[in-house]
Amino acid sequence: MPEVLVLVDHVDGEVKKVTHELLSAARRIGDPAAVVVGSPGVTGKVKDSLARYGAVKVYAAESADADALLVTPKVDALQAVAATASPAAVLISATLEGKEVAGRLAVRLGSGLLYDAVDVDADGSVTQSVFGGAFVVKAKSTRGVPVIAVRPGAVEAEEAPAEATEVAVELPAADAAKVTRVTGREVLVGGDRPELTEATVVVAGGRGVGSAEKFDVVEKLADVLGAAVGASRAAVDSGYYPHQFQVGQTGKTVSPQLYIALGISGAIQHRAGMQTSKTIIAVNKDPEAPIFEIADYGVVGDLFTVVPQLTGEVEKRK
Ligand code: FAD
Repeated sequence: MPEVLVLVDHVDGEVKKVTHELLSAARRIGDPAAVVVGSPGVTGKVKDSLARYGAVKVYAAESADADALLVTPKVDALQAVAATASPAAVLISATLEGKEVAGRLAVRLGSGLLYDAVDVDADGSVTQSVFGGAFVVKAKSTRGVPVIAVRPGAVEAEEAPAEATEVAVELPAADAAKVTRVTGREVLVGGDRPELTEATVVVAGGRGVGSAEKFDVVEKLADVLGAAVGASRAAVDSGYYPHQFQVGQTGKTVSPQLYIALGISGAIQHRAGMQTSKTIIAVNKDPEAPIFEIADYGVVGDLFTVVPQLTGEVEKRK
């Protein structure tokens, strides 16, 4: 079986859920081979987690510089491994950083690039959400090694324990004139809440929430559900919630099991970031709001009446 390279997303030695999803998708095409890029020693911390989801090989591209150089070492590592392994495909998470890596890698390999895949088939073709989510198409790269950016949450992560062999990869020395070096790092997450793109449940608020203070109605429901909080661009632009929580075309793309939209009209640019969610619930006082066109369950009503009741009911059942 040909290898299928998976770029590992990890933070401080912890593998992100999306990597387990990518390894599961890679198994459909060939033998999953994980590519770990990070500071010395990181591969040892993540190897077991990768093998549990089927990685038969773990390429370790470690260097003291790797964490400080943004995307370049990841592209270098994938290019180096692709040159020797002749993989059937390269899978990368369709996060902001992942898309940057995928684009650069495809150029270097002279390959076709498939963005925003929501499903991956055994022959390397994908189901893709394109033009801001306006169309879902089947696509296949006909040039080089396909570079596929898969949306977090789109593919189910399934355990398939394997024995992983570790292979060291030498990273080329960074050219100081060409790279961006990170000099400080601040992790912006919503307290104890799960990371937005990794969360199984997302509760998002829109302009209908009305103010930053009133966003606590959104947060309270999120907290009883163990969910991440998201926001529409109108809510972000109005200063109700920070930008890193924006969902949509110019924000983050999420595909949770459950997406609850509160006071969000459902503009195409918002839908682009959430319409592949498995189940969508919308609360909106306007029965004509476009969000109801894609919602599995809709409540026409004032969110300040509906949501506290829902929060109370969930709390009672915990
Ligand atoms: P509105 O459209 O104003 O809707 C508010 C909704 O709340 C209404 O449907 C109203 O009926 C309802 N409501 C009001 N009060 C209540 C209440 N008390 N109870 C229940 N319901 C209530 N948008 C994004 O979200 N993400 C993006 O990434 C994004 N990128 C964009 C990129 C471009 C290039 C452009 C042009 C636009 C982009 N937008 C994006 C903006 C998008 O077009 C919409 O303007 C935005 O999504 C609207 O946000 P909203 O639904 O919160 O606000």
